[in-house]
Amino acid sequence: MLKEKLLELRQQALSTIDSADELKALQEAHVRFLGKKGPITEILKGMGKLSKEERPVVGQLANEVRQLITARIEEKRADLEARQLEMKLESEKIDVTLPGRKTAPGSHHLLASIIREVEDLFIGLGFSIEEGPEVEQDYYNFEALNLPKDHPARDMQDSFYITDDILMRTHTSPVQARTLEKHKGVGPVKVICPGKVYRRDNDDATHSHQFMQIEGLYVDHKVRLSDLKGILTVFAKHMFGADREIRLRPSFFPFTEPSVEMDISCFRCGGHGCNVCKGTGWIEILGAGMVHPNVLRMSGFDPGEYTGFAFGMGPERIAMLKYGIEDIRHFYTDDIRFLKQFYRA
Ligand SMILES: [Zn+2]
Repeated sequence: MLKEKLLELRQQALSTIDSADELKALQEAHVRFLGKKGPITEILKGMGKLSKEERPVVGQLANEVRQLITARIEEKRADLEARQLEMKLESEKIDVTLPGRKTAPGSHHLLASIIREVEDLFIGLGFSIEEGPEVEQDYYNFEALNLPKDHPARDMQDSFYITDDILMRTHTSPVQARTLEKHKGVGPVKVICPGKVYRRDNDDATHSHQFMQIEGLYVDHKVRLSDLKGILTVFAKHMFGADREIRLRPSFFPFTEPSVEMDISCFRCGGHGCNVCKGTGWIEILGAGMVHPNVLRMSGFDPGEYTGFAFGMGPERIAMLKYGIEDIRHFYTDDIRFLKQFYRA
């Protein structure tokens, strides 16, 4: 009787295990057939009631059945686990033939493009590029440029002071002073100095507490105002169109004498008068002049032997004029919609 029951259990167990299609069903089969309350355990527990002859036969068979079921469960478990892993790998497979995600190509900021354009032009005219510190000594920012401590022109450039003698440079002119000093009184010096400058201004459509400047300096024997005019004419035609004319108006800067403002004929209306030139036909572009003898002297150059010119312009102003930009803050708020318009400008 028990022998037949064991054989029947074996048959049931094996077919249950074979049809299990997930680990949970396999676990259930294990509990059902081999658990503490399962039929095989029950049979083994009841062995004491059997006769001496039956006991070893049934005992051996029960053990064999138990071992067979255990082995078949382990086999099936390994099989199911392998299948599960395979499915997982399949579902997580990366299709390397799919097209990649597009990344937007970057481009130069409009101001960087303008600065590069100006740099390229002046490099072609024999100038080299000089840079200097943005955190500057009062001496180079003011004194070496003929702006002593009590000079009223210092009021025009309210500055960010870090200590009494250190400030954020208010213009790129200290680079000129440093460059002259480096040359120890021997010319020629022919440089342009682009970079960031800082003023204590409240930001609005035409003012920014930080903006760009490009200055130029040419010191040599017999440099004349007509040389300045020639260079500036080349610059105006290069940046604003071949038929631009320029005019120089008298002005004042502490570090140049004489000083001039340069206007260009309006590139919009050609000089007839429009809203860009405010009806005058002329647009103010930059300030310039002949280097003040005091500046040359302070930097170790003999004003009897050397003369020079200097000029300074704002890349923002050039960009605003060229592209009809109405608010200087657009350059510094990093709105991608604004920047994108000048992709490869
Ligand atoms: Zn005009």
